[in-house]
Amino acid sequence: MKKIIATGITLLLLTACSNVPSNSSVEKEEVKQKKSTEEQEKVETSEINDDELETTPEEKNETEEAVQTAEYVINENNWSIEPKSDANPKVVLLTIDDAPDKHALKMAEDLKDLNAPAIFFVNGHFLNTPEEKEVLRKIHEMGFIIGNHTYSHTNLNDLSIEEQKEEIVSLNDLIESIIGERPKFFRAPFGQNTEYSKQLVKEEKMALMNWTYGYDWVPEYQNKDSITDIMINSPFLNDGANLLMHDRTWTSEGLVEIVKGIQGKGYEILDPLRIETLE
Ligand SMILES: [Zn+2]
Repeated sequence: MKKIIATGITLLLLTACSNVPSNSSVEKEEVKQKKSTEEQEKVETSEINDDELETTPEEKNETEEAVQTAEYVINENNWSIEPKSDANPKVVLLTIDDAPDKHALKMAEDLKDLNAPAIFFVNGHFLNTPEEKEVLRKIHEMGFIIGNHTYSHTNLNDLSIEEQKEEIVSLNDLIESIIGERPKFFRAPFGQNTEYSKQLVKEEKMALMNWTYGYDWVPEYQNKDSITDIMINSPFLNDGANLLMHDRTWTSEGLVEIVKGIQGKGYEILDPLRIETLE
């Protein structure tokens, strides 16, 4: 019965997603700006392990339990987080993308001090060395959720089906080899999915997620004071807002004030574990 409900929800979400553009025109502009910034990112390659890993029956039962008790869902029409019933609607989700580069560990420590949960969306090209893997392990052990942001941060629309599969599945394999579990959330580079990637993400039992607002890739906000001010005073800060930030110097410097400012406006920082994901 649980399975039937979960499948029904999945189909509903997929239908909504295919009928509605995944990004508003504003977001598309932001995506362009973001792309120009991130195109400078150095892309490294490494060994890709394509093994499929199976879920044991025990793990499956635990996950189904989690699905059953989830209090929030991702609205795939606008990527906000909505309460399923009587959970507090005045919440925001924090997400940190392009991690773990130079600042992710410090950002995790600052968030931990504030008791503020978050999802770190990671890339495989930041997980090549034992030191980088240790950083990921620490972030995970601090209780943060690790999401898949593809192996090399390439726009999925520029890739063949086989390449898209490698970008997504090889990173899940790599993350599992480091922290012992596979990601439950996926965010495409630049927020740009393909029909195939949406299907594959579902097969990999991950929830698809974009964001509702973020600014740290726009040049005028690339300093501590500007990014802090706009993240707290954005017109898009409202119930269920899904905040996109990055592993960047200015965002890291402003993070504590950003979180305190948002909390000061009465928002609860949402624990991603309370969001419904696929079984
Ligand atoms: Zn990114």
